[in-house]
Amino acid sequence: LTTPTFASVKWGELTGEELATAASRRSLVILPLGCTEQHGPHLPTDTDTYQVERFAVDGARTAAERYGVECVVLPALPFGPTAEHVGLVGAIDLPNDVYIPVIKSIVRSVLDNGFTRLGVVTGCGGHWVVPGALWDAKADARRQGRDMTLHLIGLYDDFASVQARHFPETTEGPGDHAAVMETALCLAGRAELVRRDRMRAPELDRFEERYKRGGEVFLFDEVTNTGALGDASAATKEGGEAAWSDLVSLFAERLKLIDALDGETARRREASGPQTR
Ligand SMILES: [Zn+2]
Repeated sequence: LTTPTFASVKWGELTGEELATAASRRSLVILPLGCTEQHGPHLPTDTDTYQVERFAVDGARTAAERYGVECVVLPALPFGPTAEHVGLVGAIDLPNDVYIPVIKSIVRSVLDNGFTRLGVVTGCGGHWVVPGALWDAKADARRQGRDMTLHLIGLYDDFASVQARHFPETTEGPGDHAAVMETALCLAGRAELVRRDRMRAPELDRFEERYKRGGEVFLFDEVTNTGALGDASAATKEGGEAAWSDLVSLFAERLKLIDALDGETARRREASGPQTR
């Protein structure tokens, strides 16, 4: 076990001097991307923001304690592009053409502060514009002669295996909106915010076929009568606690992998010179 270098993994709880030290130590910055949007009749509108911030902070702490990986976690962005929720109450929408410059500005600021490594974690199943924004940011940095190693990580990447382990009886897709996993994670983290009396199974209009197979660009109110995309009735607090534990461990392992990959990339660049990077 190693001792974390700083008192906190949160960017917002560190001083400028401490952040300068973290940058000089090539710490990995993590940007959790949340959003504010309806999550069915039973979950709060900040569900994705809460999940991604806790995931990033707990994952970074675990990676520091278990593997000595040094990360700095930015505050989660509470607003995102939520066009798919138009017509339903709860969303604060940053349209994609507004959101892309926001993401690129955050990436540039991270670079301006002396950091060269950033992992972006998306906490929403939507946010389809994020990969494009990151590739633009990567290319812009190169054009300016500034190199940066960027990683894109989905909160939902590990949901399938974790859901299969702890909720094997469910058939919905991993990470489906306001369904069993999100409800269980909320029960485990802040049960008082789950409106159990409002929870009911949604009627979906061919969601599997229209969206997952047919690739339809859908609005939520066209496919679900509750705003949720799955039945949350199998969610339990115990299952949610086990799922959190597994998700955080898997994320910490991924941070360890990223740290090892970036270290090897830096070694190869130094060995071969800038022209072959
Ligand atoms: Zn969600």
